Amino acid sequence: MRKGITLLAAAAAAALVLSGCAGEEPGGGPGGSGDKADTSKLYEVNENVDLEGSPTFDAATKAGKIKIGVKEDQPGLGYKDAVSGDRTGFDIEIAKWMAASLGFSEDEITFEAIPSANREQALVNGDIDMYVGTYSITDERKEMIDFAGPYVITGQGLLVLKDNEDIKSEDDLAGKKVCSATGSTPIQNIRDNFPKAKPVEFDVYSQCVDALKDGSVDVVTTDQLILLGYASQEPDELKVVGEPFTTEKYGIGLPKGDDALRHYLNKVLTDGSDVWQGIYDATLGASGVKAEQPKVDDY
Ligand code: GLU
Repeated sequence: MRKGITLLAAAAAAALVLSGCAGEEPGGGPGGSGDKADTSKLYEVNENVDLEGSPTFDAATKAGKIKIGVKEDQPGLGYKDAVSGDRTGFDIEIAKWMAASLGFSEDEITFEAIPSANREQALVNGDIDMYVGTYSITDERKEMIDFAGPYVITGQGLLVLKDNEDIKSEDDLAGKKVCSATGSTPIQNIRDNFPKAKPVEFDVYSQCVDALKDGSVDVVTTDQLILLGYASQEPDELKVVGEPFTTEKYGIGLPKGDDALRHYLNKVLTDGSDVWQGIYDATLGASGVKAEQPKVDDY
């Protein structure tokens, strides 16, 4: 598994860097570019939802709206265009698919941008019905919430300035200012396992990328998939270095104890491998890199 991830990440790095010249598909693809993916033909809005015993689903149905927490500064995954207001990326498309499976069309989704540190509490408070945004499944988080999935697997990586020569892997972090998001698994890993690194935290990763560009930090660390999105937007300024050094399995965050909803979404993911592939191909895979859907863990 480790090897598969590493190979995929390396291939994704290569492909995303090259994505500017990969225009083989007619119409091109969205990748990290912020274009809107056309996934409308991959699935339909379910009109006969058979889901008993889910308080989350019942409340959303009553409201006629489903509230989904997302990221909006992570190109290729969860991104909001400042001008058009369009939300794009793999996570956004997974969110729309899950909503459609529950009978909610795109205009019946209320997206809410919530940073890493506030996700569990937003679900506990009932501010949102689910969260789809680079959200690693961990035992600690499972004490407060539940997860459907995983729906994709990545690992912690490193982003530096293009001309940086002294950080090549996680072995080079001693004495370096290492930036990540508050409440994330990568900042925790730095604090726990890299005692000589100097951790710097912000609410969201785009603040770390700004700090990298203005020289106030040396390196940004988070999931390789997220970092590749930033690097693909500014390939002349930024680069991803090294190999992924953790395993991050992305899940759909759900209110704790809503097992009916969790089993339902897990079945949608399991039965929907063609839809998953179509969504992947239209977003992260638009540069031509192949990936496989991970096996769902319906605990
Ligand atoms: N996947 C990691 C996490 O859930 C890092 C990305 C993020 O902060 O969303 O903490």
